[in-house]
Amino acid sequence: VKQQGRNNFRFFAPEMQANSSRSLALSHALKLALARNELSLVYQPQFSFERQRMHAAEVLLRWQSPEWGPISPVEFIAMAEHSGLIISIGEWVMREAAKQLALWQKQGMHNLVLAINLSGVQFNQPDLVTNLARIVREEGVEPACIELELTEAVALQNPEAAGLVMHALQQAGFHLSIDDFGTGYSSMSYLKRFAVDKLKIDQSFVRELESSADDKAIVTAIIQMAQSLEMKSLAEGVETQAQADLLRELGCHEIQGYLYSRPLLAQDFASFYWAQMIS
Ligand code: C2E
Ligand code: CA
Ligand code: CA
Ligand code: CA
Repeated sequence: VKQQGRNNFRFFAPEMQANSSRSLALSHALKLALARNELSLVYQPQFSFERQRMHAAEVLLRWQSPEWGPISPVEFIAMAEHSGLIISIGEWVMREAAKQLALWQKQGMHNLVLAINLSGVQFNQPDLVTNLARIVREEGVEPACIELELTEAVALQNPEAAGLVMHALQQAGFHLSIDDFGTGYSSMSYLKRFAVDKLKIDQSFVRELESSADDKAIVTAIIQMAQSLEMKSLAEGVETQAQADLLRELGCHEIQGYLYSRPLLAQDFASFYWAQMIS
């Protein structure tokens, strides 16, 4: 008790140890997961108010471990970033998604865009642009059908370098969006310098959109800023019709969330696509 300040860490020690042995074991299992086919992709539809239908889907990674069960991407992606495994996982995601998109396009799904999450670790790889461009070319997909999602933090770690990479990605034909917008940094001056197509409003602002005047003010400001910078805005985590109605009123272009659809397995996604096309 005397040296409480100094010995504070002791209080956390047992838990930290438990966590670290879990993450050591998980990290080891993750190394084998790619080769063992334990990773898969799901696709979450995004709804465009203007077109009154789905225009795109976000690709989300899933890991079903035989030993550990389903692991949240929040947990295993952080581990993969730490170990560097995210590079090969990220390339696998791009290839799988491009392969799936090529197949869907052959089946007649035209104008569908797939949004793919990029980790900051991937973003800092010097050969990122070349690799991504090669993968989509090999799978027979136009880069314009792929939107890459970056978080604000990644863009701002090193704005000069990030600006160059974003420019190169855009030159290669990819679309870019800023994910979890509003949760990162307060300075938004970088937006006009980077060639961003879309701001994804973080779900933490959407959750209490109707009851919180603050959240409503923030969301309104983001939508207006996107409009004046000629970017699209998409609200994430939309779960209720009331949220969707309000977002539409505020001029938000697109929504994604459980209200419209949960993330879907590829075959369920195809059914969803055709069902909403004829409705
Ligand atoms: P994110 O990019 O912000 O993805 C949105 C998350 O919100 C997804 O969680 C999605 O399932 C969830 N979500 C969608 N609609 C709703 C809703 O209406 N309500 C609520 N409460 N949640 C909703 P998920 O799939 O667990 O992914 C978590 C995070 O893991 C992602 O957050 C992203 O940062 C990361 N992630 C997922 N897949 C990949 C990937 O392929 N590569 C990388 N680098 N990161 C990924
Ligand atoms: Ca995302
Ligand atoms: Ca997000
Ligand atoms: Ca997030």
